[in-house]
Amino acid sequence: MSVNRVLELMKEKAIEFVDFRFVDLSGRAHHISLPATEVDAETFVNGVAFDGSSIPGFRGIEESDMVMMPDTDSCYVDPFTSHATLIIMCNIHTPDGERYDRDPRSIAEKAEQFLQTAGVGTAAYFAPESEFFIFDDVRYETSMNSSSFFVDSEEAAWNTNRKEEGGNLGFKIPTKGGYVPVAPVDTQQDLRSEICRLLQDAGLRVERHHHEVATAGQGEINFRFDTLRKTADNLLTYKYIVHNTARQFGKVATFMPKPLFGDNGSGMHVHQSIFDGDTPLFYEKGGYANLSEMALHYIGGILHHAPALLAITNPSTNSFKRLVPGYEAPVNLVFSKGNRSAAIRIPVAAVTPKGCRIEFRTPDSTANPYLAFAAMLMAGLDGIKRKLDPRALGYGPFDKNIYELSDAEKHEIRSVPGTMEEALAALEADHEFLLDGGVFSKDFINNYINFKRGEAKSVAIRIHPQEYSLYFDC
Ligand code: GLU
Ligand code: MG
Ligand code: MG
Repeated sequence: MSVNRVLELMKEKAIEFVDFRFVDLSGRAHHISLPATEVDAETFVNGVAFDGSSIPGFRGIEESDMVMMPDTDSCYVDPFTSHATLIIMCNIHTPDGERYDRDPRSIAEKAEQFLQTAGVGTAAYFAPESEFFIFDDVRYETSMNSSSFFVDSEEAAWNTNRKEEGGNLGFKIPTKGGYVPVAPVDTQQDLRSEICRLLQDAGLRVERHHHEVATAGQGEINFRFDTLRKTADNLLTYKYIVHNTARQFGKVATFMPKPLFGDNGSGMHVHQSIFDGDTPLFYEKGGYANLSEMALHYIGGILHHAPALLAITNPSTNSFKRLVPGYEAPVNLVFSKGNRSAAIRIPVAAVTPKGCRIEFRTPDSTANPYLAFAAMLMAGLDGIKRKLDPRALGYGPFDKNIYELSDAEKHEIRSVPGTMEEALAALEADHEFLLDGGVFSKDFINNYINFKRGEAKSVAIRIHPQEYSLYFDC
C-alpha cells in the first residue's frame, strides 16, 4: 500500500500511535511507538532511529546508530492495545542509508531476488505449520491468588488442589493422545478460534486450526502460503497474536520445540514450491509423487545441506531434544510421500498440480523465519543448479516407517545432527551455497555462528536437573 494510503488509514481508524517494528537475529520483534501526530510522509522517508548496540547480535557500541525504514506493504491494527495503534514492519538501514546486511528481512528479500536472477522461476512459496503449547500462566495464577480473588487461605488451598487434580475432570489427555478430540477434552477451542479471528483481522487467510498430538494444550493454526518475505512477516504476526491472545485468556503460549520430556514437541514444518508466473514447477505427472526433476533436485539440495541448514532452521539447544525417534519429528535425512518420519514428506492426498509441494519437517519455531526460509531456498536452488538427485545420493524415497527399521537398514540412512554444536560445526564447514548472489554475507555467517555458540555454551555450563538424579550421591 502507498504511504498516502497508510496516512488515510490512520485517519479512518483514528490511530493514536504508530508502532514501528524490526526483527533481531533470533527472529524476535522489537518496537518503538510514535504518537500519530508525529508521523507524516517524511517519517517514511527518514525512518525511525534506534540503538543497534542494544540488540544482541547487531552492531557494536561504537557504531550503534541504526534506522528503521517502514515497509508500507506490511501493516495492521494492533488488536491488543487500548489506544488505537498501527503496527508497521520495518527494514533496518545504516545511518548512510544502506540496507543493513545483518537485517534478516534484507536477507529474505535478497533470496527472493536471487531466485529471479538465477532464472529458476518467478516466485517461491512458503507455508509454515507452527505448533505451540498453551500452558497455565503461573504469573497470572500467583497474582490472582494473592489478590481479592481468593479471600482466605482455605479457599486458595482448595483452588490449588483442584488445579493440581486437573479440575477433577476424571480424565486427562495422555501423552501423545491429543490429536483432534472434541470438547470437553479439547479445552482450547475458544482460544484458538479467537486467535484465528484476530489473524483474519490482521490480513492473514486462516485455513484451519486444531488440537495437536501432545497432551492438553498443544495446538496448530494454519494460514495460507505466500511468497518468502511475506510469509515470514505473517509468521511474526502469527506469533504475536498467539502469545498475546493466550495472555488475555490468562494463559501462556510457547513455541519452544520440546517443553515436555516424553511427549510430542512443537515443529514448524515448512511447505515449499516454486512457480514461474502461474505455472507450478514442482509438478510433473507420472513421476514419484508427481514430482518434477526440478522438485527432486530441490529436495536433493535441502537434504545434502541439511546438517548445515539445521543451524538456521533448528537454532536452539532445545531444538535437538525434539529431533528424537518416536514423536513424529524427523530424525532421518530421507524423503518420502506421506511418511511423517522422513525429513521431507510429499503430501499427496488431494493435491492438485498447483498444490504440489514438498514439506520439510525438521524446522521449529525457534528459527528466525526470514533466515530459515532464505536458507532453505538457497539450499534447494543449489540442488537445482548442481542437479543433486536425492535418489542417487541415497536419500530415498523411503516409504516405510523409519522408526521401525532394523539396525542394518538404519545404517544406510543419514541422521540429522544430534546437537546445536554439531549443526553449527556443519554450517562452519558448509555455507558457500548461502553466499551465492550475496544473499548471506561471510560476516553474517561468522557472527551468527559465534552468537549461537554463545547460547549453546550458556546452556552447557549450567547444572541440569538430570545431573542431580544421576550424580547427587547422598
Ligand atoms: N509435533 C510433530 C513435530 O514435532 C508433528 C506432528 C504433525 O505431523 O503435525 O514435528
Ligand atoms: Mg502438526
Ligand atoms: Mg505437517
